This record gives sequence, C-alpha cells and structure tokens, in this order.
Amino acid sequence: MSFSRRDFVRGCAGTGCALAVGGSVGSLALFQPRPARAGEAPRPHPARFWKKLENKRVQCQLCPKQCLVEDRERGFCGVRENRGGEYLTLVWGQPCAVHVDPIEKKPLFHFLPGSRAFSLATAGCNLECKCCQNWDISQSRPEEVDWHWMPPEEVARRAQAEGACVTFTYSEPIVFLEYCIDTAVAAHKLGVRTTMVTGGSGEVEPMKEACKVLDAVKIDLKGFTEDYYRKLCKGKLAPVLKTIETVRQSGVWLELVHLCIPGANDSEPEIRDMCRWVKTHLGAEVPLHFTRFSPQYQMKNVPPTPFETLIRCRDIALGEGLQYVYTGNVPGIEGENTYCPRCHKVVVARHGFHVESVSLKAGHCAFCGQAIPGIWS
Ligand code: SF4
Repeated sequence: MSFSRRDFVRGCAGTGCALAVGGSVGSLALFQPRPARAGEAPRPHPARFWKKLENKRVQCQLCPKQCLVEDRERGFCGVRENRGGEYLTLVWGQPCAVHVDPIEKKPLFHFLPGSRAFSLATAGCNLECKCCQNWDISQSRPEEVDWHWMPPEEVARRAQAEGACVTFTYSEPIVFLEYCIDTAVAAHKLGVRTTMVTGGSGEVEPMKEACKVLDAVKIDLKGFTEDYYRKLCKGKLAPVLKTIETVRQSGVWLELVHLCIPGANDSEPEIRDMCRWVKTHLGAEVPLHFTRFSPQYQMKNVPPTPFETLIRCRDIALGEGLQYVYTGNVPGIEGENTYCPRCHKVVVARHGFHVESVSLKAGHCAFCGQAIPGIWS
C-alpha cells in the first residue's frame, strides 16, 4: 500500500507531530527560510471562484475537483478553507519558495531567451503526482512550510529590481490563482511580464481570467491517457486538455512539457497520439518539450529516462509535423536548440540553461527571414 506525504500529514495532524519542511527549492534562493514555526496560522484572504451552498457549505469552482467544503474544512489542495460559509485562500501573499532562475529552467524556450524569472510558489497542489520533485511544498499545508509575507506589489518590485519576469512555479499556481492574478496586475503596472508553470488542472473560467493578465504559460502534459492521470496523479486528463486549449485560444504564449517516465507514459502510440492532438488542436508551432525523468518521491524505483527515449519521442513529434520539439534535462544534445523550420539553421543555441547564441531579427530567422513564433523582446 502506498503512503503519501498528504496521508502522513493528515495522520499526524491530530497527534501534534511537527514537520520541519524547508522552503528552499531550486538554485538561487533570495532569502533564507526563517526558522520553522509549526502550526503558525496563515493569513486568510477572500477567495474567488466558488459558490455558497446551504448550511454554510461552499463549493470550490477553481479546479475540476469541485470540492464540496463544510464549515471549518478545507478542499483537497489544503489551502482553501470555509469559515462560516465564506471561502478563503490561506496562501495569498505567502510564498514558501522564492528564487531567481533562468527562464530556460521553466522551460520556456520561445520567451525572452537568456532572461531571468523571479520564481515563487506557495504550499499546496490539486494533484498528487507520484513523481513530484517538489513534493515537500506541493503536498504540504500552509502551516507546514516556512513562508514569507510578500504581497503582490512587493513581488512586482522585487522582480523589477532583479530585471526578471515573475513566474509562478514549483508547486501548483492554480491553487493560489488569486495571488497570481493580483501579482500579475501589479507586475504589469511596473512593466514586468508574468508567466506561469502549471499542471493545467483548472476550470475554464478561472483560467480565462488568469490569461487576461499572463504573458506566457508552460503546461505539463504529464501523460496522454486518463489511466495515467488517475493512477499516477489523482487527476484527469480531459480538464488539462481543456486548459491547454483555453490558454492557446487566449493568445497567451504557450509551451508544453512531457516528462517521459520509463514504462509509464513513453510508449510510441501514446506519444504519437499526443503529438497528433497537439498539431490538430493547437497547431504545429506550439513548442513541445520531452524532458528526462529522475527517480523522485514515490517513484524512486523507476530508472531515469534513457537518452534514446527522448530522442525517439522527439523524432516521433517531428515526424508528425510539429515544428519546435525539444529534449530537456540532458545538456549537450541537439534537441536543446531552436531550429528554423524553413532553412533548418540554429536560431537559438543552448547548452543546459545557458543560451549560447540568438540568431533572430525582430522574431524572424536571421538566415532566411522565416517568422519564429514567440516573445523575443
Ligand atoms: S482548488 Fe483546491 S479546494 Fe478548489 S476544487 Fe481544486 S482541490 Fe478543491
């Protein structure tokens, strides 16, 4: 029987078992997490995207879980609470991880290459992926992490000072969407762009609201079967596909990532079906990244993705007509570069998260003049 961190936390909740959860994720931390304060109450903020029901019950309408929440209870993600029939978010303005990363780390390859991302996350997630690399914050409640008070205007100011865009990432931004939207508005007032890295498990209307203020979104298309999402993520594929289409139709820049897990989601038919869906529903020019899996969390018994698998997946995608297909987490192979689909020359050369050269002129190939979609300046 598998036993998740979420189960563990819930099991400990009534026994006074304190968890020391660090807030440090990624490469360059902007602050040291303050000493753990187990049980410190988060600051509540009015939630959006919910409706009142009888007897002080509410229904959350932010994501497909559509949690029915009794008074004094929380939804599945653990960060939204019903207090007397009013629904509150417990993570607005309270990130537990704040770092500056290369934008290539998200990965966003057609969005300001070589730029920096002021990246932040709160506790909580509406999925429970067995391969999660940030499970210590995604599967935690707000009380179980070290957080800092950082309202939207301060995030915007800090990002501006770093010369970076704001990126919501690491855990699941959809569960802190009110904070994302308010921060994106504050950032735009300072001329700072805003991006989101998400699993895409959201409802259509909230995602449309978010798209009004975001500049780019990277969505993890974790698998291409309902079976995969049910068994390995406690989620569903269909709403993710709907979110992907919603973002694409909104005009916000979109890139997709598929983490290739050996034996779980890397079969040739599944990859081919996914590529065909991307081409048919989104268009051949939407970038698709195949990234390498490393054993994590509840999948430590699964080996890392062989390089050959990533190359095979990329070849399938190119063969299906997708124009911008990448391999990730394996520095030094050709799938890191952006190639012009007309003259096939390298227009953005990368090594790992480092951009080595950009051969674009006003968004066009510097060699043949072909337009390359993306946000380049
Ligand atoms: S955002 Fe959280 S509370 Fe709302 S429906 Fe999804 S899991 Fe439930």
